[in-house]
Parts: sequence; C-alpha cells; structure tokens
Amino acid sequence: MKTLLELIKDSPAVKKAYEMALVAHKGQKRASGEDYITHPMAVAQTVLDWHMDEPSVIAALLHDTVEDTALTSDKIKKEFGEKVAFLVNGVTKLGHAKYRGEEREVENMRKFMLAVGGDIRVVLIKLADRLHNMTTIKALKPEKQMRIALETLEVYAVLADRLGMYELASKLEEISFPIAKKKEYEWMIDTIKDKYEERVAYANKIKPVISKLLTENGINFSKIDIRAKKMVSLYRKLLKYEMNLERVYDLIAIRCIVDSVPDCYAALGVIHESWLPLPGRIKDYIAFPKANGYRSLHTTVFGPEEKVMEVQIRTAQMHDEAENGISAHWAYQKNKDTKNYISRGIASFAKADELQLIKQLKDLKENAPNAEEFATLVKSDFLEDRILTLTPKGKVIELPSGATPVDFAYHVHSEIGNTCMSCRVNGLISPLSTPLKSGDVVEILTQKNKRPGDEWLQFVKTSVAREHIKKVQKDKNKVLYGEILKKYELRLIVEDRVGLLNDVTNIIARMKININHHESREDHTFANHKMLKIGFAVSNYEKSKELGEKIRKLKGVKSVECHPYS
Ligand code: MN
Repeated sequence: MKTLLELIKDSPAVKKAYEMALVAHKGQKRASGEDYITHPMAVAQTVLDWHMDEPSVIAALLHDTVEDTALTSDKIKKEFGEKVAFLVNGVTKLGHAKYRGEEREVENMRKFMLAVGGDIRVVLIKLADRLHNMTTIKALKPEKQMRIALETLEVYAVLADRLGMYELASKLEEISFPIAKKKEYEWMIDTIKDKYEERVAYANKIKPVISKLLTENGINFSKIDIRAKKMVSLYRKLLKYEMNLERVYDLIAIRCIVDSVPDCYAALGVIHESWLPLPGRIKDYIAFPKANGYRSLHTTVFGPEEKVMEVQIRTAQMHDEAENGISAHWAYQKNKDTKNYISRGIASFAKADELQLIKQLKDLKENAPNAEEFATLVKSDFLEDRILTLTPKGKVIELPSGATPVDFAYHVHSEIGNTCMSCRVNGLISPLSTPLKSGDVVEILTQKNKRPGDEWLQFVKTSVAREHIKKVQKDKNKVLYGEILKKYELRLIVEDRVGLLNDVTNIIARMKININHHESREDHTFANHKMLKIGFAVSNYEKSKELGEKIRKLKGVKSVECHPYS
C-alpha cells in the first residue's frame, strides 16, 4: 500500500491538495507545538490506510482549512470539484456538534454524525481526525482533555464499533477511558493487575498445547494469539457482574487464526474433545454473524489445571473484517469483490438498522455499486423525515424535516419559543419560517414580552410549537375578552335571614363571576327586608340574566333587578 508521501508524488491532485493545505495552515501550530500541517497529513495517512478513495484523501488533507484558514469552500470546489468540497464541508459540520456528558444527548450525537455526514466517507474522515487528535490529546488543558475524551468514549468509539471498526474503537477507548473515567481506570488497574498477569502466564502455557493439537489433527492455521480484554469492555462487563472479576472468563482469550471456515469448525471440535466446554458459552457467529457483521467462533472451556479460558477461532479475512469493519469492506469492494462485499456489507450494517441505514443498502443487492454510489447510498434515510440541527453550543436538536427556527426554539424551551423574535441560521439572520437542514447551527434571538406571531401557525411543523402558540393565543384572547367585560349591578330585595348572603355569594362563585363590590342597607319599603347591591362584570347580558334567575329562586328573595353599572 502507498504511503501519503508516495501518493503526493504520484497524484497531481493530491499534490495540489497538500500544497494548498500547507499554504493555508502556514504559521499555525498544534497545541503540541508542532506545525499544523502534521495533523491533516496524519489524518490523510489514516484515510489512506483504510483504503479510502482519492477524494477522501484530498478532503482529509483539507479538512480543517474551511473552518480555520482563509481557504473557502468555493475555492475547494473550483480546484477539486463538488465531491471534495462536499466532504470537507461535511467534516466541518460534524465538528460543530459537541457532547458534554448528558446521557440522553449521546444517541442524538451519534445519529447526528451519521445523518449530517450524509456520506459515510465524511464520518470516516472525522473518525480519522478524532483518532489523531486523541493521540495528541495530552497537549491540551485538562478540562478540554476531559470533555474531548468523554465525547470520544461515548460518541466516536461507539460509532466506530457500530461500523464494525473494532480496532479503531478500542484504540479510541484505550486513550479516552483513563482521561474520561480516571477513578474507574485507577481502580481497574489496581484490581486486575495480579489477575491479569496470572492469566497471561496461563495463556502462554496453553498456546503451544493448542498449536500441537491443531497440527496433530491436520488443521491449517496461520497463528495463535493471546488477546487481552480491553480495559473499557472489561469495565463494562464488571459493571454488569457487580465488579466480580471471577465472573469474567474472557479477561484473556486465546485466538486461533485458521485457513478456512471448515478449519474453524474442525478446530472447535478438537478443542471441545480435549477440554469440556462451559454450557451456554459456545457462540457460532459464523453461522449467525453479529449485527455489525462480526464473524468468529467463541467457546469457553475448562482448560488444563481446571482453569476456565476463552478460545476464539476465525479465518484471516474474518479477523481483518473484525478489526477494520467498514473500511475492510471498502477495500474488498475496491478490489471488485462486489458479490462478497454485498452479502457481507449488508450484514455488517445490520446494527446500523437502528439508524435506518440499511434500507438503501438492501437496494444495492441488485446493482453492483461503484465507490461513488456506495458512499451516497450509505447515508441514513431517516434523514427523509428527521433533521438534526445544532444550538450555538453544539447541542444536537432533532426535529421533523421541514421544521423551522420557531420549532427549534420551542424544542429548546417553551419560553424561548414564546419570546422568539428573530434568528440566525449558520450565522446569517434568516426568516423565522426558514426550513432547516441537518447540520444547521441555529441561534434564536429573544425579546422579553414578545408574543408568538399569529402567522407562526402557518409554518410550524411540530405539535409542541403549535400547542404553545395556540395556548398563548388563547390566553391573549382571554385578556382581550376581559377588556370588553360589561359591568352590572344586581339589586335584590331580600328577607333578613341568616345565611342568605352566603347563599347568594355561593351562586356567584359557582358561576365563576367575580364580585366587584357589594353593599347592603335597610329597605324601608318592607319591614325586616334589606336591599342588597352586588356589582360584577360578565362578558354578556345573558350571563347576568342567568345569575339573576338563579338568585331569584333562593328562599327569601323578594325581587331581583339587573342594571348596567359604570
Ligand atoms: Mn482536524
């Protein structure tokens, strides 16, 4: 495989990209003090190691220029074409999303990466970018290290895992775990150290025994390795087992790389013949690949000295795919191994089904894809009805497609929606009715006491926004209504009996009418009678009539009159 430097020599386009990046980043330094250009070069080399195509290598070289230098997206488009400009823009947009450790945010972040990428190459370049940033993370300030490590652990490593890129996922985890979960890491180191060393020694003793077994039984194999369980997966497993290390059987596993699928099963047979397997721990991921395409045989046996050990058996190709996931498929596909790629490729994306990537991949079955088609097809079609936008702080806000800044504002907070006055989309003042796109950074400008515009109902897409706007309108109408309430005065002639006044006020209260004033005085027309005057306000005369009639029915009420009152 070519190195980046060789490619720069051989390909005029890559050479041009390299020179443009060099000029653009001239004088810029990494936090480590190195020249900035070392970073895009490292990213481009990784992209090349993953067998990605030339536009990807060029985009990797230029990935930080639009954000951080004077180079514009238009210029890149002019020099390298639409595709490269699209890839660079995609990587730039992905950089705007920021994860700060809120549990419920994490899935949105992962979705954002796949959706906004729109092209799997964007995500892969971003992963290569993050890998290099992680290898140089020590140069950053502690708080920044912490945030980036957490984001890497929860978002990027998980994404790599879902794309079947286990080697990358565990590299990212190995670097970020000790930073993001310092205490847990230290506890683990203390706890597992002895156990770990003991297990490695044991596995080293068993290796030649297995090697001999396979040879004696005519099984073709290329190597037998010891695989130590990665710190992060061990930690996750310990959490599941109440931190009981004794229950983790695969702290160390022995891995046999054999020549063919029949050799896999033959090796499993030979191992089970020699050592008794633990029931329920034989996993045939060859017949039933894991959702992300992982294939291998796993078994746990009672080995020599009655010690439990895990053995994994797979072919070299399975091993390559397990380590490199989608990028391995990329390589196979490039080698025109289309048929194999398609069947394997779909399996490898089954996990991404959650993200609805698979539908389009299924369509690939009929048409042999080229790299270009493949890349565009591997975009999430949930994009068709959902968009993922960002707050200025990089928080992902998921909305239905066609949603507007007003929907966005209500999604963030009802008060922000209600007081929303104008907005900036990607830095530009835009109409509140602008349909948003995935990756848009939306800033809402609010004004105290601002109320929703009536016309908002014409363009909002979410029920949350609609409900809030309607509610405010209703409240507003109530206030308006209040202004046209009419004042009346009831004049009652009543017997002077105990509790009568109470009966009257009860009726008024039940009709939810507020009393503005009342007075009672002796009435001289009838002995032992009183004149009661009660002032109130209602929206229409009917209501005051109804009130009058109810009161008239009370015992002791002689007459009721209702007069407008001002
Ligand atoms: Mn970068």
